Amino acid sequence: MKIQKRHFNKRNLHTLKTAFHRRSLQHPQFNFFAKIASYILLACLFCLLLFPASLYGIYSLFDKVPGNPITESFPNKITPPDYINVYNTTTKQTMAVPFEDYVKGVVAGEMPATFEEEALKAQAVAARTYSLSKVLRSGVGGNPPAHPSAPLCNDTHCQVYRSVDELKNLKGEAWMADGWIKICEAVDSTKGQMMYYDGQLAEQALFHSSSGGHTENSEDVFASAVPYLRSVDSPYEKEATHQNESTSYTVTEFAQKIKSAYPNKAFGDISISTIKILNNSQGGRVNQIQVGNQSLTGRDIRDCLGLASANFTVGFTISNAQPYIIFTSNGYGHGVGMSQYGANGMAEKGYTYKDILKHYYTGIKIY
Ligand SMILES: [Zn+2]
Repeated sequence: MKIQKRHFNKRNLHTLKTAFHRRSLQHPQFNFFAKIASYILLACLFCLLLFPASLYGIYSLFDKVPGNPITESFPNKITPPDYINVYNTTTKQTMAVPFEDYVKGVVAGEMPATFEEEALKAQAVAARTYSLSKVLRSGVGGNPPAHPSAPLCNDTHCQVYRSVDELKNLKGEAWMADGWIKICEAVDSTKGQMMYYDGQLAEQALFHSSSGGHTENSEDVFASAVPYLRSVDSPYEKEATHQNESTSYTVTEFAQKIKSAYPNKAFGDISISTIKILNNSQGGRVNQIQVGNQSLTGRDIRDCLGLASANFTVGFTISNAQPYIIFTSNGYGHGVGMSQYGANGMAEKGYTYKDILKHYYTGIKIY
């Protein structure tokens, strides 16, 4: 029985082998499917090994795109809040506005949508930097006294911000379908990007309409010297408004205006012989001007007479036996930081928003 059983088992195995062989011969697809399965298995293993390498390759590809936020990161980069508070000077209400929407509304309020896209992008980065620094400062020193409920207002006191509803009313549907879309694209393409100087957020990303040819050192216009607010040439302002703008007064009218603006100063005789520009800043603005017995700043004269800029010259003429004083100003605004018309001129010449910002804000980096 025992021998029989072993014999039976051997026969059984032999029968099985023969059956398998016969099946392979009778069904060639049996071999074919086995091969396909092994190929799929090998392919899966290959993919598993290659997957991390592929990811790295894709990352490196994007990494080389200029301006891509992936490369533009560094340890001190600040993530803006999702919402910020903005005080509406018209309604006297404080609004919570999504931060990037606020930036879009500022670009729309501060720069014509007809400007070049690279100029709009430069404006977006400057506006974003300026507003975030105000938000951060309010967290330390509180909100400005002019609007204690919010770090920013929607007017020139901070930056002009226009909501979508306001823009629809102001500009109309055609502009919304064209200019607004262009502004949104410019802001979105620089999302989160801000200017940093020496590893810190550039707190004073000031800008103005046009400089008249040269921007100003911050200390020549405002109180303090800011390292990135240096006087630079602004050569592409041909399309700027307020160029060679002349305003004239009789010397008597001028004297009256000055004396009423500064009632505590003893000017004495204000005449052609006692009005003289004493010195100019590096950017060309009037630093000091003699008026009678007193010395005023160019900014004093600008504010008193409502001139577009303190970048002015003084001339005299006599008409009908009356002495006249003529102020001829160039540019519009304080002249510190980025010139908006200069930025547009640079963009027309092919410069990128980064070129523009690095030109007007000395030594800054964009992250
Ligand atoms: Zn304000």
